[in-house]
Amino acid sequence: TALIEARDLTLSFGETPALRGASLAVEAGEVLAIMGPSGSGKSTLLHCLAGILTPDSGEVHFAGRRLDTMPEAQRSALRRDTFGFVFQFGQLVPELTAEENVALPLLLRGTKRAAALAEARPWFARLGLDGMERRRSGELSGGQAQRVALARGLVARPQVLFADEPTGALDSLTGEQVMELMVGAAREQGTAVVLVTHEPRVAAYADREAMVRDGRARTTRLAPEQVAS
Ligand code: ADP
Ligand code: ADP
Repeated sequence: TALIEARDLTLSFGETPALRGASLAVEAGEVLAIMGPSGSGKSTLLHCLAGILTPDSGEVHFAGRRLDTMPEAQRSALRRDTFGFVFQFGQLVPELTAEENVALPLLLRGTKRAAALAEARPWFARLGLDGMERRRSGELSGGQAQRVALARGLVARPQVLFADEPTGALDSLTGEQVMELMVGAAREQGTAVVLVTHEPRVAAYADREAMVRDGRARTTRLAPEQVAS
């Protein structure tokens, strides 16, 4: 059975309908790309799957629990303990060093500082960031900052990594490197990846694609020869 299942979601922002009956399932450990035109509802759907937004109607189930009706305190605990996030512009905390940024999800879960930093450090070699540990976000290139954001999204071994246009601010070569690292690291630890992208080259790393149009989603399983890894 699916790890996350969204059924018939609707959500409007004032008069603007963003979702009009979107259904989508995410399986454990898979990489799912959500594609579609700008304004079709991709980010809104991602935010509903992650328990950040509550749909006006429909249901979201995560690991057998009803996510959309869960009290906010429980949902935020679930996001903190079970999900990881990567955004388009990295969104590192500028006052913190790169290694402190990576350690942040562990610190928020109550891991002691020394232990959190010890878990953060191996990610630097793994993602080709040796020597960047003490830099602040302003001293990193876009691709470096996005790899730091990726390490932060994965460091706590989330069951699901939600990524909204994770390569949108990068040139295509750097974007492909980030995708390769993200998919490789996620697969190694069994993390499912749900990513929003409008770039077919990025979606090619996914096992499945969901096409969103006018607030509805249609899923296709890619043929094996189309699966990149
Ligand atoms: P996509 O990610 O596919 O570009 P979004 O989910 O961001 O689409 O947006 C879907 C629709 O909802 C768009 O018409 C967008 O303008 C609108 N929308 C999204 N977020 C908000 C918001 N916070 N307030 C008002 N309208 C919003
Ligand atoms: P994307 O489509 O890549 O998510 P957008 O630029 O459409 O990016 O939206 C970025 C954020 O701005 C969204 O997360 C959404 O919450 C918000 N947003 C989008 N459209 C509107 C809008 N019409 N009014 C207010 N906020 C919006």
